[in-house]
Amino acid sequence: MTHIDRNAPVMVSGATGYVAGVLVKRLLEEGLTVHAPVRDPDNLKKLKYLNAIADSTTGTLRFFKADLLEAGSYSEAMQGCELVYHTASPFFTKVRDPQKELVTPALEGTRNVLETANQTPSVKRLVLTSSCAAIYGECADLANTPNGVFTEDIWNTTSTLDHNPYAYSKTVAERAAWEIANAQSRWDMVVINPSLVIGPGINPNATSESYNILRRFGDGTMKAGCPRYGIGAVDVREVAEAHFQAGFRPEANGRHILSGHNTNLFEMAQTLQPRFGDSFPLPHRSMPKWLVWLVGPLVDKALTRSSIARNVGVPWIADNTKSQQSLGIEYRPLADSMNEFFQQLVDSGQLKPRA
Ligand code: NAP
Repeated sequence: MTHIDRNAPVMVSGATGYVAGVLVKRLLEEGLTVHAPVRDPDNLKKLKYLNAIADSTTGTLRFFKADLLEAGSYSEAMQGCELVYHTASPFFTKVRDPQKELVTPALEGTRNVLETANQTPSVKRLVLTSSCAAIYGECADLANTPNGVFTEDIWNTTSTLDHNPYAYSKTVAERAAWEIANAQSRWDMVVINPSLVIGPGINPNATSESYNILRRFGDGTMKAGCPRYGIGAVDVREVAEAHFQAGFRPEANGRHILSGHNTNLFEMAQTLQPRFGDSFPLPHRSMPKWLVWLVGPLVDKALTRSSIARNVGVPWIADNTKSQQSLGIEYRPLADSMNEFFQQLVDSGQLKPRA
């Protein structure tokens, strides 16, 4: 049982990110003091969304300079904090050097932040943003689960540096985190494992892969058809709430799958049809698996034939019971998250309706 003093500052790594932005908003609305170590605290353009929230809430926001790859750089921001959120980790799929761009920052960054927690006596709890990608690599992995469903007991064993490197980066980072956490007893660790995060963030121009997927639904990339690529989806506001509860519920422990919907990309795109179908080139039909297999890799290098075989037309099923029972999460309808997310891209001029 870990009790966090609400008067102590709370550290959030990666505060400039999509997921962390909504978490920082939640913390500031509670009137808490948030320490935000970021790569460039002088980049006011990037920090303006966080600053605007700080100005309109009762909380206090302080920026610090830190980098996942610089050992000890989170030390100053962590001073006096009882609760530390480690969310920073690269999330994109188009990479040239997966070791350098994904695995090293995810793994070394996690070691860096957790070793700093070991050296910071005030820290009582660390909440790690892992991913469902640390639980599964591909939908076909479902066949190897004991009950045909992804749960918190399962680990991704199919991703490697060359095959699904993002999922591999999240898997090795979470494993390293548990090793460090279990080697001591002063602080405890709670892990949040979200599926694909969707829904409006605080920065409409975010670079997270979540935004790229939504843009591709609306910019005509998929107008010939969209694959039924099995995936889980969860609203960013539920992910933020889960982080908040994981930090402050004394009894919170272990991993938590955060996923509101067992779905697929075509089904997700379909939720946009009633409101946006007339004005945007949304995918109207699902693309048959053989056709995705044939043309997919030509359109997108990250989409290999093996990943098509193991994900397209294969269901994705996860059990989100623990998140509901232990963290009190209530999941909103998929269509609400999708439509509000799409609207954000329209309002910010990133998706333009047909003339
Ligand atoms: P994001 O918007 O790209 O945020 C990533 C954050 O990590 C940014 O704040 C970025 O800082 C920071 N970062 C990256 N490399 C860094 C480095 N070398 N040093 C310091 N900071 C660094 O992505 P996101 O979607 O919010 O993802 C946040 C977390 O959620 C990640 O751990 C991700 O794996 C996890 N997650 C995301 C999803 C999803 O669907 N979005 C699903 C499951 C889990 P800069 O702003 O300086 O680049």
